[in-house]
Amino acid sequence: MTPLNFESFYNVIDGKLEATAETRHGINPATLEQLPPVPVSTRNDVNRAVEAAQRAAAAWAATPIEERKQKVIQYADAVDALADAFGKMMTLEQGKPLSHAIGEAHGAAYFLKGFAKMDLPDRVVEDTEHRRIVTRYVPVGVCVGIVPWNFPMTTLTFKMGPALVAGCPIILKPSPFTPYCGLKMIELAQQFFPPGVVQVLSGDDSLGPMLTEHPDVAKISFTGSTGTGIRVLQSSAPSLKRVTLELGGNDPAIICSDIDIPKVAARVAMKSFVNSGQVCISIKRLYVHFSIYEEFMAELSKATKSLVVGNGMDESTDLGPIQNAMQFERLKDFVASIKRDKLTIAVGDLENTFSTSNGYFMSPLLIDNPPEDSRAVVEEPFGPILPVLKWDTEEDVIHRANNSADGLGASVWSRDVAQSERMAGQLQAGLVWINNHQELQVDAVFGGHKHSGIGSELGIEGLKAYCLTQSVMHDKDGA
Ligand code: NAD
Repeated sequence: MTPLNFESFYNVIDGKLEATAETRHGINPATLEQLPPVPVSTRNDVNRAVEAAQRAAAAWAATPIEERKQKVIQYADAVDALADAFGKMMTLEQGKPLSHAIGEAHGAAYFLKGFAKMDLPDRVVEDTEHRRIVTRYVPVGVCVGIVPWNFPMTTLTFKMGPALVAGCPIILKPSPFTPYCGLKMIELAQQFFPPGVVQVLSGDDSLGPMLTEHPDVAKISFTGSTGTGIRVLQSSAPSLKRVTLELGGNDPAIICSDIDIPKVAARVAMKSFVNSGQVCISIKRLYVHFSIYEEFMAELSKATKSLVVGNGMDESTDLGPIQNAMQFERLKDFVASIKRDKLTIAVGDLENTFSTSNGYFMSPLLIDNPPEDSRAVVEEPFGPILPVLKWDTEEDVIHRANNSADGLGASVWSRDVAQSERMAGQLQAGLVWINNHQELQVDAVFGGHKHSGIGSELGIEGLKAYCLTQSVMHDKDGA
């Protein structure tokens, strides 16, 4: 394997590393220092990448699936071997603690390999004397994957893994806030895949629309906010692109009365605040049974206070900075509305929650039983803010948990199997956990209900999302 350097960063078009006339740079959110320059792609770059993908499409689709899977596995091994270097780069650009970033890099390899274990067998619908009908899966064509800044590597693999296994070329677009790991991952991929099969373009805010409106792109897979997802859908409509949208969430978690309070409180704190709350499937509304509310709140407060906020490069750090200035300002606005609404704060200090040092630091806030219609409950903060609410009857809490435009994830925590399964079965979300939250597995499908998305990723469904179906009906006597 040719070694990678993590100092200079390029687009990859048709197998070649390319610089652009104009450049921009990310910012280390823990220090506000500038990171190295990255390309700003133009429409010409987009057109050339799409043309290269079109040229590569037929040969890649004709490559036997076992061979494609082998290449994905070899590539995943290379990503895994470089996990420490990718992790360091990710902490610098994204802010999360180094151990979490290295874990994400290993996770990227795990997800790639998981797709390489899946199959797309033909389905024989009928095989009789006179007729044979077979349904098969054919690659959809040139794909584009657009990803956000919270998980720069794993969100990329949710798109490139299935596209490559299904036989599609794919152009990836990392977030302008976190372009570095994505650019390096695709540079590394050139050692395993033919030119034009996996490409990457970095750029500013104008790049996404150039890709989504391109008439020769067959499919867009987008992960990001609901507002942007709607724009992606609109822009994809004129050329009838296939679209997968993984969007925002406002996940409820329901804590029943029979749980081990200290154990669950500690786990819930992590599943709410890890990555400084910047996770689509973190717990964002916590419903605790009234009979244990005070005791649970005491334990949750203890666990929350123990979380160390700091530079992700420091070993003691549990929560890194907020990733970017825009999100930091949004959270300031969120906190201002918490002040205006005069909500009760169980942990945190509204006057001092944002650090004045050289980084976008924010301490976690626990809100004690706010009104159900307050902004803190209704809106996804995408930061370390958790409203905790009381519940009494199952019917009431299920109604409140489902009373959201979002439907990404949800959980029930109970030792009573019958109760937890009964409640879980009524939750309107694409992923429902019992006694857990925020965990993904490559072979378990993941896709938001309601405003949290269209289509799905992961699981065999996530692979089929890069295919068109084709039924071949053979009338044996017809000629
Ligand atoms: P965002 O929507 O601002 O940006 C996501 C990506 O879309 C970026 O690469 C951005 O450059 C690009 N983009 C922006 N405007 C575009 C346009 N008009 N056309 C095409 N692309 C465009 O989201 P973000 O702030 O990066 O991420 C945070 C959001 O993502 C949160 O709401 C979070 O819940 C959601 N998210 C969802 C999932 C999921 O799997 N459902 C996973 C991670 C994050």
